Amino acid sequence: MSIYLDNAATTVVCPEALAAAVEAMELVYANPNSPHAMGREAAKLREKGRAQLSRALDCLPEELYFTSCGTEGDNWAVLRGARYNARAGRHILSSKVEHPAVLRCLDELEAEGFDVTRLKPERDGSISPDAVLDALREDTCLVSLMTVNNETGAVTDIAAIAAAVKARNPRTLIHTDAVQAFLHIPLSAHALGVDLLSLSGHKVHAPKGIGALYIRKGLNLPPLLLGGGQENGKRSGTEPVELIAALGAAAEVASRSFAEDHARMSTLREQTAKRLLEENPGLLLLGGGAPQILSLSLPGWRSEVLMNFLEAGGICVSKSSACKKGGRSQVLEAMGCASEVIDGAIRVSLSRFTTDEELDRFCTALRQARESLRPSIRRKR
Ligand code: PLP
Repeated sequence: MSIYLDNAATTVVCPEALAAAVEAMELVYANPNSPHAMGREAAKLREKGRAQLSRALDCLPEELYFTSCGTEGDNWAVLRGARYNARAGRHILSSKVEHPAVLRCLDELEAEGFDVTRLKPERDGSISPDAVLDALREDTCLVSLMTVNNETGAVTDIAAIAAAVKARNPRTLIHTDAVQAFLHIPLSAHALGVDLLSLSGHKVHAPKGIGALYIRKGLNLPPLLLGGGQENGKRSGTEPVELIAALGAAAEVASRSFAEDHARMSTLREQTAKRLLEENPGLLLLGGGAPQILSLSLPGWRSEVLMNFLEAGGICVSKSSACKKGGRSQVLEAMGCASEVIDGAIRVSLSRFTTDEELDRFCTALRQARESLRPSIRRKR
């Protein structure tokens, strides 16, 4: 049996989400926009999913628009948010540690003439509210910052940032990529005070292919996808009712046990970190904050070599991020990590299904890897 410790890349579909999807596919398969009885049943199930998700995110159901993934939500919020609010100015404030789904949009907007500030993170990988306020301008149309970093688990205080930005410049729109935060740290869309928030189903035990964008009530964000006018004209495309039902079920069951799971995962992460530091001289922990992500580095040993050793023992972890093939982590570079630290980085990511025994086997295997493999990177003195 494999030990799956790559939950920041994707998660197993939970039994409740699976059952909801299968039931919808077998019984409620009509187009939710069809006016007949079966269509109305499908529409009802879609709205049930929206209501379940809204309770988990603490927002109104009508503030949620289903998307195909986190990437779509990020693209929609950043591209349309900046262009829509360009009357407030053409400056965008973001960071160097955003997911490529945001970074690539920033590049495109910059090519169109927007002025983009990409903030450097603190040493722990988070973005400080002071740095945001220092860089905020009268013509800032959009602030886009992730809540939890996918490579390091670093948590940025979005609520403090949103309050400070809105106090100084109420016209600035605020977007947060909460793909790694939703159902991993306590999160309320309304309490955060943001205008836009993107999330993704497959990071929270729903299937791949479903996500959502929260759009604050009253904000008339133009659509990204044009077509048949589904989702109140905001997001065209026939709604995947089975995936929506699965996301709703996954969100509901995770919310119910959230406090308990959060406490247990935080303890597991802490104990694992402590043991790794005790057993492996020179091991470094990178970033941190969110309970599901433990990013570490064994300087001198290459990530790929360590990963191959772990994989031979049935243990799946990842390099700093699963989204990017090859290349060096720009997130760790932006945090000022030395090259041998970046080249030896590994991301271990937990879910509420992760057990003590699995982490125990991981710790033992990493120690064995260090003891039996020669370091392949010469360390700088
Ligand atoms: N944002 C963050 C922080 C992520 O970790 C990811 C996926 O890893 C995404 C966005 C993209 O989400 P999706 O894979 O659903 O497109």
